[in-house]
Amino acid sequence: MKVFKFGGASIKDAEAIRNVAKIIGAEGQEQLLVVVSAMGKTTNALEAILAHYIDGDMVYRTEIDKLKSFHFNILQELYKGNDPAALHQLEDLFLQFEWFFELGEKGNYDFLYDQVVAFGEIFSTKIIATYLQSVGIPAKWFDARNFIITNDNYREAAVDFALTESLVQRKIPQMLGEGPLVTQGFIGKNRQGHTTTLGREGSDFSAAIFAWALQASELCIWKDVPGILNADPKRFANTVKFQELSYTDAVEMSYYGASVLHPKTMQPLQNRHIPLHVRSFVDPTLPGTRIADGVAAQTEIPVAIVKDRQCLIRIASANFSFIAESNLSRIFQSIAENRLKINLMRNSAMRFELVTDCDARKLSALLADLDSEYLVDHTDGLTLYTTRNADPAYTQKVLQDKEIVLEQKTGNVAQYLTKSH
Ligand code: ASP
Ligand code: MG
Repeated sequence: MKVFKFGGASIKDAEAIRNVAKIIGAEGQEQLLVVVSAMGKTTNALEAILAHYIDGDMVYRTEIDKLKSFHFNILQELYKGNDPAALHQLEDLFLQFEWFFELGEKGNYDFLYDQVVAFGEIFSTKIIATYLQSVGIPAKWFDARNFIITNDNYREAAVDFALTESLVQRKIPQMLGEGPLVTQGFIGKNRQGHTTTLGREGSDFSAAIFAWALQASELCIWKDVPGILNADPKRFANTVKFQELSYTDAVEMSYYGASVLHPKTMQPLQNRHIPLHVRSFVDPTLPGTRIADGVAAQTEIPVAIVKDRQCLIRIASANFSFIAESNLSRIFQSIAENRLKINLMRNSAMRFELVTDCDARKLSALLADLDSEYLVDHTDGLTLYTTRNADPAYTQKVLQDKEIVLEQKTGNVAQYLTKSH
């Protein structure tokens, strides 16, 4: 059996959904599980709705109306008003969604986030499963939350792989015989029965978990690019597409921020030797990129990865003591507890520096924790460039006339933190 994953861009409007149905119709002859993200920029819209709701800003109601129109317009486009059942189904879902706000739910931000944001994937999968049925593909919808079981770490929940595997194995194989299955990426459930999410862009990871639990013959992630490229074509000219990559190369590229793959995706696949195929939904005849066992490490083609919205945090000793082992373990503990991800770090006698994605909430929690013991300051709005296998000419092309704040080289990997212009 195979697992397919379609992200937000591949289902951003009615035409895109028709294209996805075509791909499933043509490619999905064998047993197939289809994992889907929220449509277009829905997750961002849901984040904004929640932020305004929490701030008591009534604009959230207007934003809900916009999100509703976006989804209902797609339905209208798909069915030209000829399918009241699909319409009622979506109306019911939006009633549930709005009910959440009517009830005036309060509580921990991360908890509320998961309860609200998960609706994006519920809306999209219901629309897609119903549309597939309407064009003669006997698709079946199921709720991923009944299978992907996680801990309580809302917004970045850790998956209980053993429990998830046994639940998947108990039910899904027999359901696969009846037509393609459609489910949500990104979302799961904890043991108390509350919705959790696996971290932004986590649908790739969900698809990998299902592929792992079902011992799939392949996971295919459908993208708006022809495969995995050595750099983002929106930023760099003359990009090169990889025909194939080793698991290690793919892990490293996603670790440094290549947005084509969620960093957690590779591990479950590598552990069970399941190939990952990245293909273009724009042109499914293209060969894409294959990541599989037995592919040699890639040492020739230079790679450039760019991460915007970076924050440099400097943590200095307040009493002239060294930043040595005990201080470091204290600092790392705070970083881990406040769930910051280190994209680059450097240590010197009296200072520890780290680069992380800008996240005002996490940053202020870290500052609050460390402020009384250390001198902490931070600079926002930076950009991190990472290169692999780059010669000086390529590096120069990547950096052009950027102002470098910090640089670090390890083996064939070089990282440059720059001021964004
Ligand atoms: N919809 C979620 C997000 O935008 C998950 C995903 O797209 O993978 O982050
Ligand atoms: Mg997405």
